[in-house]
Amino acid sequence: MNAPHDPQLQTYAPYIGGRTWESADQPVTPVINPYTRKPIALVRQATAADIDAAITAAQEAQKAWGKTLASEREAILCRAADIVEKRRMEIAKVLIEEGGNVFGKAMFECDYMISTFRIAAGQARDVRGETMPADAPGRISMTVRQPLGVVAGIGPFNAPFLLTGKKLAPALAAGNAFVLKPSPYTPLAALKFAEILEEAGLPPGVFNVIPTTNEALGDKLFADPRVKLVTFTGSARTGRILAELAGRYMKRIVLELGGKSPIVILADADLDYAVRAAAFGIFFNQGQVCMANSRIIVEAPIYERFCAAFAAKVRTVPYGDPANPGTAVGPLINPAQCDFIRGHIDDALAKGARLLTGGERHGAIFEPSVLAGVRPGMEVYNEESFGPLASVLEARDYEHAVELANDTSYGLSSGIVTNDLQKAFDFALRVEAGAVHINDNSFDDDPNAPFGGQKDSGYGRENGRYSVADMTELKWITVQLGQRQLPF
Ligand code: NAD
Repeated sequence: MNAPHDPQLQTYAPYIGGRTWESADQPVTPVINPYTRKPIALVRQATAADIDAAITAAQEAQKAWGKTLASEREAILCRAADIVEKRRMEIAKVLIEEGGNVFGKAMFECDYMISTFRIAAGQARDVRGETMPADAPGRISMTVRQPLGVVAGIGPFNAPFLLTGKKLAPALAAGNAFVLKPSPYTPLAALKFAEILEEAGLPPGVFNVIPTTNEALGDKLFADPRVKLVTFTGSARTGRILAELAGRYMKRIVLELGGKSPIVILADADLDYAVRAAAFGIFFNQGQVCMANSRIIVEAPIYERFCAAFAAKVRTVPYGDPANPGTAVGPLINPAQCDFIRGHIDDALAKGARLLTGGERHGAIFEPSVLAGVRPGMEVYNEESFGPLASVLEARDYEHAVELANDTSYGLSSGIVTNDLQKAFDFALRVEAGAVHINDNSFDDDPNAPFGGQKDSGYGRENGRYSVADMTELKWITVQLGQRQLPF
């Protein structure tokens, strides 16, 4: 039985077949504002039958959608970009209230999505096959790329608009239909896409949203043979579970997982720039960023100076109410996350680290915090904190810095701050990460560049043509001119 809810709150529901989808059995749960901890809306959660209906709707709609002209898909995706541009303040309000985002982060998501829709619009006309020399006389050999059919997306809470949008837009460009299971924390941002795409003229059923707090229902997306690909962004812990499901059901999967990304700061770096780059790279979105540089690796000659300057900078980072335009660090998604981060600090302190600043919790806010002297064996050394906690590690020299950078089970992104181009490029080739940013922090995701990880950070690449490659079936076609020489 559902608990009674405030009747003043607006109730949302799954979006299936181009309409709001209500059924009697849907459990209703509140969406909680992470800062005030008060409910802001109610959501009817999809049932197993609803998920089945969403897949059915998607499969039916895809038959016609997959045959539309690229120019039609291009036009709809261009309109979607324009609608995001027009409605960005309204989208930002959802991200601030539902996700605890600060205003700048909410705007970043909107800008990213505008670009993502426009790039996807271009991709619609650029789904290419190729021809190749055949190893037989009189034969023409070529490939075509066809839509997969139904693609399912499972998204995280931390950038719920752009991280699901970057799956959705290329899937549509390539002629697929899409079923989206958003994070239980952020269903409203996902449902915004329903409004945007409906207004843009997307045919009913091509896009469907199935909010659910019952994660076990996610199995249905793997078990159903009509779903051809599951594209997932979330933690390595969940990724491992889903990879096993993918194996069991022989399902294609893209895994965009967590990180423990390094920023390496060499002794020749401009200290002030290095401090600012490292601070932004870890405290943006209160550290709830997969590619955050949570490990700051500093060469010994400048280690103590860096620690002092970094701690001083971090003490100036304003934290508090995300609705306040001056706030840089807002609330964590839930109170348990504050306890988890404090646990990382306590463990590190017990094993000999130093807390340079922060460490306290104020309601849903965790102060921007810095640990020095972090070493292997401490939980924070390799575990993702996913919050405003930076570890500063001392490297004896450049070689030791490379060793530390790679001494993690993750491999998502990285950065190096130095003016020594020999070392910068050497690092770029040797670091075990999906991206390297020279003279910058590890926080960068460009909708036109490949994004994805190595090791426990997952596999597959997202954005633009890289997503389209994963979201199409590559088929080999040959034509025999005249009769083929056969041995019997
Ligand atoms: P999470 O793994 O807890 O949840 C992600 C999604 O998976 C949610 O929608 C959740 O409901 C769903 N889920 C969980 N168990 C499931 C199951 N058994 N079947 C189907 N779905 C299931 O992650 P989160 O806390 O929402 O997000 C934070 C994590 O995501 C961090 O680890 C972060 O680094 C990572 N992340 C990665 C990227 C990237 O691009 N690599 C981007 C953002 C966040």
